[in-house]
Amino acid sequence: MKKGKKLYEGKAKIIYATNDKNLVIQYFKDDATAFNNQKKTTIEGKGVLNNRISEYILSNLSQIGIKNHLVKRLNMREQVIKLVEIIPIEFIVRNIATGSITKRLGIEDGTVLREPLIEYCLKNDKLGDPLISEEHILAFEWASKTEIDKIKKLILRINDFMIGMFRGVGIKLIDFKLEFGRIKIDGKNEVILADEISPDTCRLWDSVTDKKLDKDRFRQDLGDLIPAYTEVAKRLGILHEQSNVSAVNVTKLSSVKIKKK
Ligand code: 5GP
Repeated sequence: MKKGKKLYEGKAKIIYATNDKNLVIQYFKDDATAFNNQKKTTIEGKGVLNNRISEYILSNLSQIGIKNHLVKRLNMREQVIKLVEIIPIEFIVRNIATGSITKRLGIEDGTVLREPLIEYCLKNDKLGDPLISEEHILAFEWASKTEIDKIKKLILRINDFMIGMFRGVGIKLIDFKLEFGRIKIDGKNEVILADEISPDTCRLWDSVTDKKLDKDRFRQDLGDLIPAYTEVAKRLGILHEQSNVSAVNVTKLSSVKIKKK
């Protein structure tokens, strides 16, 4: 497969064309951003860990029948994915209230939700990804009712699977963000899971100590982001599957180097 020109550069990833018009390469950067791009740094090794963790989660989801864009991981930082038309909505799934919902609604941090709560945000950096309702989605035709209903069902299955997967390794899945895309499969329009699932897009707390093992370590200046992401990868059994060379590379990354931009 030949890597072509850059098609899109986001905050944490770059998409490159390939010689197959249906496939693109997703490159995981080390850049970390928060608070609508107001806080920025580079954390060496973050992209490598997110590439591995996201590959692991998406391939497990594939095995339980959740279609997604992942084709295969190419190397430490890149994966081949199916080209989809991204639905311009961030789907936020919450099991325990923390983060923006506690500030927005005055809910006590750590409140366990009786059922998973799905929120929708418009993917628009200029507007700061505002919270929207299903009615907004339908009124402005960002997605159809059929698509939303299908996505909601998928989200609940994904959440159930991920809660169990993380619980098995002593981690609580607090909340996460998902994105979906449109694609034609065998001439039929389908909606499939896209983007990434990693400690950048999930809140993950140690089951016993509530230690944060996710991007909040960067957002809240807690430090030790790479050791936390490495811990997630190790508990999921990802790191020791690597060749010696890449295992050494990731181990080296435990010493965090943060370059201020
Ligand atoms: P909150 O709304 O509390 O800031 O975020 C809820 C969850 O969605 C968190 O797990 C957070 O990581 C994820 N999330 C929400 N928006 C974004 C985003 O723009 N980028 C990333 N990487 N994650 C997001």
